[in-house]
Amino acid sequence: MKNEFGYISENLRVIKENAAEAADKYRGGVMPRIMAVTKTVSPEAVNYAVSLGIGLLGENRVQEFLSKQESYDPSAEVHFIGHLQTNKVKYIIEPMTMIQSVDSLKLGTEISRLAAIHGKTMDVLCEVNIGGEDSKSGVSPFELVPLLEQLAQLEGIRVKGLMTIPPPSDGDIFLGKMEELFNNIKDRNISGISMDELSMGMTHDYAEAIQHGSTIVRIGTGLFGARDYGTKNA
Ligand SMILES: *Cc1c(COP(=O)(O)O)cnc(C)c1O
Repeated sequence: MKNEFGYISENLRVIKENAAEAADKYRGGVMPRIMAVTKTVSPEAVNYAVSLGIGLLGENRVQEFLSKQESYDPSAEVHFIGHLQTNKVKYIIEPMTMIQSVDSLKLGTEISRLAAIHGKTMDVLCEVNIGGEDSKSGVSPFELVPLLEQLAQLEGIRVKGLMTIPPPSDGDIFLGKMEELFNNIKDRNISGISMDELSMGMTHDYAEAIQHGSTIVRIGTGLFGARDYGTKNA
């Protein structure tokens, strides 16, 4: 096991080093949580990362998660970070501790309904389409406050902050805009919600994201290597 997945521990060492450097320089040494993003990655590799101390996994696809879930080390916490259809919420309400990709009242309402049935309170983040890209999900910055106010009224759901995937070009500008938006909303003290978590930063921009106040960085390729979507031995 150690030989086969040795590259993961080396990758994690580098990520932690870079993250600590950014945290020391810009955030008074406060480190974000490091999430391992598991899409296309085998449960064995994921569990190896967990054995190295990564306590948080990020899942994009309900179907893929369901096929791997039983093989995962149960000590890891799992968050949903992908686009979520309302009819799939029922599969993740029990196993997950946070849904980071809430971008509509419809989705929030379904999470609330199912959480109530399961007698749990689901932590959620609102996904913000900070770059205004047509191709991306997420609520527009202009619709964010009304959505947060509506979500705050729902039972069984607790808004804890914001999540974003900035546009690949000019990413740094949008990380700054996101930081501003996050702080602005925090200052409003909207009742019934809290702004504790800012989930942003991936393999190519996690150091910059930490600079802009990220509390959760979501790392896939930087940890596990390039994703293989194709057939085996391609
Ligand atoms: C795939 C993915 C990541 C990780 O991306 P990498 O560039 O591989 O680090 C982070 N967040 C979301 C929402 C993703 O889909």
